Amino acid sequence: MKTNYRVVVIGGGVVGTSVLYHLAKTGWKDVCLIERNILTAGSSWHAAGGIHALNADPNIAALQAYTIDLLPEIERESGQSIGLHMTGGLTLAGTPDRWEWLQSAYRTFQSIGIDDCRLVTAKEAGELCPIMSTDGILGGMWADREGYVDTTGTVHAYAGAAKKHGAEIIEHNRVLELHQIKDGWEVVTEKGTIRTEHVVNAAGLWAKQVGRMAGIELPVSPLNHHYLISDTIPKLEALDFEVPMTVDLEGFTYMRQDQKGILLGIYEVNHEHWMMDGAPWEYGFELQQEDTDRIERELTLGFERYPVLQEVGVKTWVNGAFTFAPDGNPLVGPVRGKPGYWCACGVMAGFLQGGGVGKSLAEWMIHGEPEADVYGMDIARFGPFAENKQFIKETTGQFYTRRFVMTYPNEQLPAGRPLKMAPAYSDMTAAGCQWGASWGLEVPLYFAPTENFEEIPTLKRSNAFEIVAQECKAVRDAVGLLDISGFSRFEVSGAGAEAWLDTIMASNLPKPGRAKLAPMLAPDGRLKGDLTVFNWGDGTWWIMGSYYLREWHMRWFQDHMAEDVAVKDISDATVGFSLSGPNSRKVLEKLTDGPIGDLKFMGCGSFDIGLIRAKVGRLSVCGELGYEIHCSAAEHITLRKTLLAAGVELGMREIGFNALLSLRLEKSFGIWNAEFTQGYTAGQTGMDRWIAWDKSGFVGRDAAIAQRDGNGPAQVIRTLEVEADDADASGFEPIWKDDKLVGFVTSGGYGHTVGKSLAMAMIDSDLATNGNDFTVHVVGQPRTARIIADSPYDPTGSAMRA
Ligand SMILES: Cc1cc2nc3c(=O)[nH]c(=O)nc-3n(C[C@H](O)[C@H](O)[C@H](O)COP(=O)(O)OP(=O)(O)OC[C@H]3O[C@@H](n4cnc5c(N)ncnc54)[C@H](O)[C@@H]3O)c2cc1C
Repeated sequence: MKTNYRVVVIGGGVVGTSVLYHLAKTGWKDVCLIERNILTAGSSWHAAGGIHALNADPNIAALQAYTIDLLPEIERESGQSIGLHMTGGLTLAGTPDRWEWLQSAYRTFQSIGIDDCRLVTAKEAGELCPIMSTDGILGGMWADREGYVDTTGTVHAYAGAAKKHGAEIIEHNRVLELHQIKDGWEVVTEKGTIRTEHVVNAAGLWAKQVGRMAGIELPVSPLNHHYLISDTIPKLEALDFEVPMTVDLEGFTYMRQDQKGILLGIYEVNHEHWMMDGAPWEYGFELQQEDTDRIERELTLGFERYPVLQEVGVKTWVNGAFTFAPDGNPLVGPVRGKPGYWCACGVMAGFLQGGGVGKSLAEWMIHGEPEADVYGMDIARFGPFAENKQFIKETTGQFYTRRFVMTYPNEQLPAGRPLKMAPAYSDMTAAGCQWGASWGLEVPLYFAPTENFEEIPTLKRSNAFEIVAQECKAVRDAVGLLDISGFSRFEVSGAGAEAWLDTIMASNLPKPGRAKLAPMLAPDGRLKGDLTVFNWGDGTWWIMGSYYLREWHMRWFQDHMAEDVAVKDISDATVGFSLSGPNSRKVLEKLTDGPIGDLKFMGCGSFDIGLIRAKVGRLSVCGELGYEIHCSAAEHITLRKTLLAAGVELGMREIGFNALLSLRLEKSFGIWNAEFTQGYTAGQTGMDRWIAWDKSGFVGRDAAIAQRDGNGPAQVIRTLEVEADDADASGFEPIWKDDKLVGFVTSGGYGHTVGKSLAMAMIDSDLATNGNDFTVHVVGQPRTARIIADSPYDPTGSAMRA
């Protein structure tokens, strides 16, 4: 062991060894991995080793696909067998909704280029897996590249390949302490102290403690998980092929062949957390006692699905722990305020996702950014609120229990809620507000007209459709009031504020008393934000964006900080409401004697609104005359009452974000995580229209210019009209031209004013002309879709500028 390395990876499980391999392979040779015990001594040794393609997040599914491709390569590079059994895999649907979802998921897979799947009937499924009862099965999805690996062999293959690329592995050496020093970290280990530029927390079951060594409270917890391995099954012995890796979603089980028996894994509805503060240091190759009472229901379902289990005994029980983040996705990336500290933990399915995690993290460390959009596993998708132990317990438990339970796009889950509420929450609830959650904050979805209204979970249009239609109508005809506490607000001040903003934003900055849409770019020209910058004219500036990106944006701001600038996140202290619709100015005129009528589109300033000294911006996401009115949290209740009282004679209706999402679609206004992501360039998305090309020195300028002057993007965003009747596109549906995949939906919904099902989509540039017809799969069904001119509602923008 040396005393200096460029990187110290802590943890020799499948994730740590994959990170090490990717770092060494990508070119950083001076890297080591430190393991407390021997390689595999955490969750990795006792995993079931299953690999399957399905994941609800297409970006994570793509990283899983990468891992599956990588497995034979590490075997070849290392010379270490990984015991790969590519048996193929089946995912079963046991209810009509699940079958519909699976057909839809199959199309999503096609969108992201995973084309080795096909839908199968229940009968075919039974033929592919002859030890299975097909009772209650409505259909399934077959994937060629699913199966299982030998877990110990796989970890050693990553490790062996890493060593061949020059990396070092030190076993039997626990990391005891971490100290942040100038330009890096001091890593105190049992065998001595190391100085390093970067540390990677890949400590799996011990990730919590290795976080705390650096003062970081990670939103992660271990939970217990059972599988059994059966004795030899005569019916399997008689087969001349291996049965496929089979996931029975309604049965809460997964199954694979294990020699001539089967391994049956159980997702336990009655979940059990284990050592929430991290595993004991002496824990290693032990397991927990099996608890068959706790999993009795799922076991019964498993034994019914595989009746052969009733004929043989159980050879082995495994009840081991592995870690979960609140949403079940990994926690990867740099930690704000801790330069050189990287996370690669909370990986629930390390054999399936470890390759993608290692690749992304290595790219991030070496090149500054990962190649793919990995927001879904970025640690910055959580914030301080997620450090709370009860929050972690409720959300990880909910995820685990529901791992195989179908979640509908319009379903609101209860764990960890309500946590953060804007002050008018109770009043709004009394007015019928139905809530969703964004980054721990309750945000209004719509206002139900009756007290006991319940939205029925569905993949199609829900029973809230008509309510949202009425809210949209109120905005277009009169005025809608929306609680906009669920936007982020950053206050930028100091002598260097303007120069700093000018560097990180690709647009020109607004003049005093003005606001401006501002793309923020990474050095490679891809998007880092679709923000709005306000110049309040008194030396303070605001940046407004998506509430759930607060930590993610703050990390970017801090990483690109300059002298004499203070950036303060004021999102919880400053809240507000927006008014949208032709009567919105009349509402404000009743409440202020300030020159509100003189405030031009994209203007901003301070006004007395009733009793409140408010900051007001004239903006509209709905495409109407609109105002955003900001106040302190303490004034939120008063502001709402004041606006409602003034609006009563002007047709005001309180609305939620569901209406906003429909209205913005009618204007072809993109939103983050749909039309705008860190995977796209400004040119692809149309955000380039706000780039100040003649401005020098902003982040991403050279790349953006090269992209502008190149051959143009391969795909661009367009608006589509979809011939759909009972369901709308939502995102990642494939778009076909003559059976060729030519794009995918970025977001969709119903345009209540224009009376059309609409979608925005990324489409091959050479086909992206108005009037061009395509086929798009909506909830698995083919529909005709046509490119229409942008902004089907009020294309000239006259309402907005009125
Ligand atoms: C019963 C069961 C079945 C599973 N089945 C599957 C499956 O089919 N497919 C799948 O993909 N996944 C499966 N998993 C999950 C899989 O096991 C984990 O996702 C994976 O092992 C996580 O790997 P890791 O490297 O993050 O963590 P770990 O394997 O826990 O490795 C962490 C390592 O860090 C070391 N370490 C910790 N602290 C320190 C320190 N201070 N100093 C030095 N070293 C330290 C530990 O000794 C350990 O070796 C299963 C898990 C269980 C429990």
